[in-house]
Amino acid sequence: MNKEMINALELKKSYGDIQALCGVSFKVPEGEIVGLLGPNGAGKTTILKILTGYLQPDEGSVEIDGLDVVEQPLKVQTRIGYLPENAPLYPELSVQGYLRMMVDLRQIPVNDQLGCISEAVYATSLTDLLTRPIGKLSKGQRQRVGLAQAMLHKPKLLILDEPTVGLDPTQIVEIRHVIKRLSQHSTILFSSHILPEVEALCDRAIILMNGEIKADARLSEMAATDNAILVLQNSVADIDAALRKLDAVNKVEKLPAADGYFSYRVYGKPGADVCPALLAAAAQHGWPLRELRRDARTLEMVFNELARPEALSA
Ligand code: ATP
Repeated sequence: MNKEMINALELKKSYGDIQALCGVSFKVPEGEIVGLLGPNGAGKTTILKILTGYLQPDEGSVEIDGLDVVEQPLKVQTRIGYLPENAPLYPELSVQGYLRMMVDLRQIPVNDQLGCISEAVYATSLTDLLTRPIGKLSKGQRQRVGLAQAMLHKPKLLILDEPTVGLDPTQIVEIRHVIKRLSQHSTILFSSHILPEVEALCDRAIILMNGEIKADARLSEMAATDNAILVLQNSVADIDAALRKLDAVNKVEKLPAADGYFSYRVYGKPGADVCPALLAAAAQHGWPLRELRRDARTLEMVFNELARPEALSA
């Protein structure tokens, strides 16, 4: 098993009366790409600032690559590349002027500087923009400059705060490609409130709401349900009753007919394997089976289910 790149334990943080984090714990193994997902104000930026040492927690601890962030901040900084929500870029500097300044600030040895800049420029597709002033770049191009500075020192861990916020759909796709490319060499934790983005990029999602982790699982696990979708070629009399009689079945819901076919969502009993039971029943009764599949949930469905109790109590 991969070693842990992030180990956050019981993080608490308040700003005056506002409790931004109420005891958040999670681990990220080396090599994973993890999305930190949550609505506005959930506490995402607060977590990322604590991980990068920009903010101290009131309680709890963080280790990055086995090093305590509060006790060994300088060593931790060498392992992290950080793209903050509003990356501080210098509008009057050219892209290459800015990256040169950053390799100095990062104290990268002079002999390695050119190589580091070349790799970052290549990974973020900035070759054609090197001489342009940052102030005259589009938002997406500036975001690529922000990503380039974050990876200059070849960090083991990249922490990206809403890397695609405010970008148009083409720029979003570009930045996603860059992040995927960077994930070949670094562990990545990025925050977002855009569900399809997390689905497109991540192995795993951590869902944060009101300063608490509500879910932390691989996307495939989040999507898994005990339910199945059954589609029949023709209608079958009393099929609802026949389905309900099966041991593995909890509930049956008729779905709107599509393309002339007859569809049902069949809710399995927890832990029961409903698909084989349906297949056996279809064979036994001679149902005109057209399709049988597991009913996977989207991240949006998971997110809305988690958000619902809070919406009701608000
Ligand atoms: P967003 O998606 O809007 O960026 P977020 O999930 O990153 O939100 P945080 O920025 O971590 O959330 O904020 C968590 C809570 O802490 C919010 O209620 C916010 O208003 C509050 N907060 C954050 N920073 C400060 C601050 N400097 N002073 C006071 N309150 C703050």
